[in-house]
Amino acid sequence: MASLEVRGVTVTFGGHQALARVDLTADPGQVTGLIGPNGAGKSTLFDVVTGLRRPSAGQVLLDGRDVTRLGPSRRARHGLARTFQRLELFGRLSVRDNLLVAAELGPDRRRAARAVTDILGRLDLTAIADQSADSLPTGIGRLVEVGRALAVRPTLLLLDEPAAGQDHDETARFAALLRSLAADGATVVLVEHDMDLVMDVCDTVHVLDLGRVIAVGPPQEIRRDGAVLAAYLGDV
Ligand code: ADP
Ligand code: MG
Repeated sequence: MASLEVRGVTVTFGGHQALARVDLTADPGQVTGLIGPNGAGKSTLFDVVTGLRRPSAGQVLLDGRDVTRLGPSRRARHGLARTFQRLELFGRLSVRDNLLVAAELGPDRRRAARAVTDILGRLDLTAIADQSADSLPTGIGRLVEVGRALAVRPTLLLLDEPAAGQDHDETARFAALLRSLAADGATVVLVEHDMDLVMDVCDTVHVLDLGRVIAVGPPQEIRRDGAVLAAYLGDV
């Protein structure tokens, strides 16, 4: 199973530092939260971890191996999968086919079909498996993205605001799913604005503000952290 370590990552857009010497670790069997106000740098950090963006300084290690210079597909082969904050589904394909496209990257097609059926069940998507992705409300579309990420059987899963648009019951089921993925040994990193979900499922929370990590700790400590309250939670 893949642990993630981000060391001293810096990303600059023009003159603006989106990330400034960011450190983050995430371990197998745990859900690691990454929170912070809009523009804090959360999605940019995911881009760096997946290889979509090269940092100007710092390293990304998967299972202790430096992958900073590897492209996204090489990293995906190490078991890394992510969802995007903006939906990136194949709109004209059915829900099932969106997952099959990812699952069939593996060698065994029949196994892929079984795995997809299983994931659809786990995410409660079986009833809408034949609907086209672009017919779905956003909250369900995000679940389909999670399903597609799961279809590659990731050992490291990065989720960028997966619960946005979900109602209370959907979020509760989603929390249970995240815990079961971690219990199966996956490393899960969760970017999410729903504080109840973050506090409920995360073992450790990292807080980013203006590209810097301002706090790391268990959720109950983060809730009380003065710098976090000032930067972020104060207005929640
Ligand atoms: P978050 O996901 O925490 O809301 P982002 O990672 O999207 O934050 O953005 C962090 C900062 O980097 C913001 O100031 C944003 O405007 C800037 N930024 C993100 N992507 C780009 C880009 N492609 N070009 C220029 N600036 C960007
Ligand atoms: Mg973002």
